[in-house]
Amino acid sequence: MSAFTNTATADTPGVAVSLRSRRGRVRPGADGPSMDRRQFVDRLAAMGATGLAAVLASGGVGGAVLGATRPAAAEAVTTGQKYRYGMVIDTRRCVGCKACMAACKTENVTPPGVSYTVVVEEHNEQAFDRPLFMTKPCFHCSNPPCTKVCPVSATFKREQDGIVVVDYDRCIGCRYCITACPYGARYFDFGEHYPATEPGQALAELPSPEYGQYRVRREGASPVGNVRKCTFCMHLQDAEGRYSKEEGRWPACAKTCTGHAIHFGDLNDPDSEVSILLRERQAVRLKEELGTEPNVFYLL
Ligand code: SF4
Ligand code: SF4
Repeated sequence: MSAFTNTATADTPGVAVSLRSRRGRVRPGADGPSMDRRQFVDRLAAMGATGLAAVLASGGVGGAVLGATRPAAAEAVTTGQKYRYGMVIDTRRCVGCKACMAACKTENVTPPGVSYTVVVEEHNEQAFDRPLFMTKPCFHCSNPPCTKVCPVSATFKREQDGIVVVDYDRCIGCRYCITACPYGARYFDFGEHYPATEPGQALAELPSPEYGQYRVRREGASPVGNVRKCTFCMHLQDAEGRYSKEEGRWPACAKTCTGHAIHFGDLNDPDSEVSILLRERQAVRLKEELGTEPNVFYLL
């Protein structure tokens, strides 16, 4: 089945998320001292204002990086959606190695300047203090502003699993969606190539498995001239839309994470690893006050 046979439109409504808040300190981990939630939020906010500021803080939408609410648990939602795929990223386990970035580029064969996930970092000037790292893919928001501005409905949220996609055959490259995304999660393919690493090696010959289309990038042909973004490696789904960690059909970043910081799964399944983590740990979503309802959570 094509990635674009779904009938979702740019105005597919977002799903409601039930939130449960808890008070208390971050539990001490084996990898560093504890900090209270306020300190943690301040550190994340500082990341948005400094390192990769354009990615996390500006985006033209404004506001604080973090919202006032804290999604400690995402309970099963009642919509027609079959799956609700999302990620839970443990900031205490991320070691900043960027293996996720490398794995993503390798899996999706993305060109220079196109990274479907980036690792942001806050340097801590205090001696012996551990820096804070967090990997940042597309959040596949339940209420995504990026899809609403597309003049040709080339980008939309799939009804069956909530993954936000771009139909390269429809995209006209206007880049409105890049401007509308408050998280800097979209990239334009300018047609650049990495230099050949061997004499006589042809450039850009590797097809990308994105959307199961196996396109080879050539000048003037999609996806060159289109906007590109993380797809949760949806080309690894089976015909029923399921992933399998055991079979290796799992988003490349989560599969490769050396610190086991990236957890992926179905937020609609109360027994999934991501749902259990959200019930048991404190979590935040970035810029929650914007109402985008990201489906990527960060554990404190
Ligand atoms: S993170 Fe940005 S690109 Fe991804 S769904 Fe949300 S608004 Fe759209
Ligand atoms: S760049 Fe493509 S996907 Fe983005 S708004 Fe324009 S036409 Fe739509």
